[in-house]
Amino acid sequence: MASHLAALENDRIRRFLAEKNSDQPILVVDSEIVRDNFAKIARALPDTRVFYAVKANPAPEILQLLADMGSCFDCASVVEIDMALATGVTPDRISFGNTIKKERDVAAAHQRGVGLFAVDCRAEVEKVARQAPGARVFCRILADGAGAEWPLSRKFGCVPEMAADVLEHAHRNGLTAYGVSFHVGSQQNNVGAWDGALASAAAIFRDCAERGITLSMVNLGGGFPTRYLKDIPAVEAYGESIFEGLRAHFGNQIPETIIEPGRGMVGNAGVIEAEVVLVSKKSDAADELRWVYLDIGKFGGLAETMDEAIRYPIRTGRDGDAVAPCVLAGPTCDSADVMYEKAPYALPVSLEIGDKVLIEAAGAYTTTYAAVAFNGFAPLASVVI
Ligand code: PLP
Repeated sequence: MASHLAALENDRIRRFLAEKNSDQPILVVDSEIVRDNFAKIARALPDTRVFYAVKANPAPEILQLLADMGSCFDCASVVEIDMALATGVTPDRISFGNTIKKERDVAAAHQRGVGLFAVDCRAEVEKVARQAPGARVFCRILADGAGAEWPLSRKFGCVPEMAADVLEHAHRNGLTAYGVSFHVGSQQNNVGAWDGALASAAAIFRDCAERGITLSMVNLGGGFPTRYLKDIPAVEAYGESIFEGLRAHFGNQIPETIIEPGRGMVGNAGVIEAEVVLVSKKSDAADELRWVYLDIGKFGGLAETMDEAIRYPIRTGRDGDAVAPCVLAGPTCDSADVMYEKAPYALPVSLEIGDKVLIEAAGAYTTTYAAVAFNGFAPLASVVI
């Protein structure tokens, strides 16, 4: 049987895994690819400041590399703020981008020197005003997640029509009403998806101006995709389309902009090596599907297979052999721990117990989603090379 590692294009990860010979699932992230992603994103949007979304993969080596390249950080919690600060960046390079914060966490962020906060309602404005007087706030608006494989539409943000009121409330409470943010949905395959939200942002700028409040910043959020099974547009196409949207809606008064890429920064840099624990069938019927159980599942880092939304490329040492669809499941005793069943996954018929598999494009939203000890399984091991 050919080694599963032969399927891997990335030499550095291949060499690492061959030497490591891990007996547990392990994510290996190639720092050179992260470096390349940062450079490409920064080049595609040259006038935009990059705030890496720490939640995507907070490995200290990744944060340090990005800090050294000039990145700022979008943090969702005080723990993430501390991770970003540990790189040595100054707090003015950090945004507390979660619209749902405990008031004492706002205070802790302010105490650390963070002065930029997301809000999407008056109650959140009041927390920030009480605990971080004078801070800058941006109001998140709901955006249409159409075209995104992992939409974030309903939970965060207010309707665009409410944003000027929220920002005026911030202004009246002694905060700096700084701008508008939105997220067009993660793994956004439509390069034009930013246009509608930019139109809303421009209208909010105008509305605030009429109230005597000058906004300065548009936070373009994340959404930049990573290549899973389907091709994706080049990052340059996103840059061009966003710039066109800014020009169309803001004319020659283009505001300061920031972006918060997570998946697009680290997704394609990581590969998980995992193992086939069992291959079985539920009956002897000729058309019965195989079940392939791996030693990693929804609770071990592959949470984004929820709703089968994200379909990872999976390579085996038997690629090239005949394939047949199978149900792909994880190792835990929770029956929800099934990755692909509604749309079964084609894997080689020859796949056997003990075979190693490679789950590609797994650098984002995997380690942080892995349970600490569900069923006694260790959290997903991770190495940055
Ligand atoms: N910014 C915020 C506020 C987010 O909530 C997220 C993801 O959840 C991101 C940025 C990163 O998004 P993406 O991974 O699509 O780039």
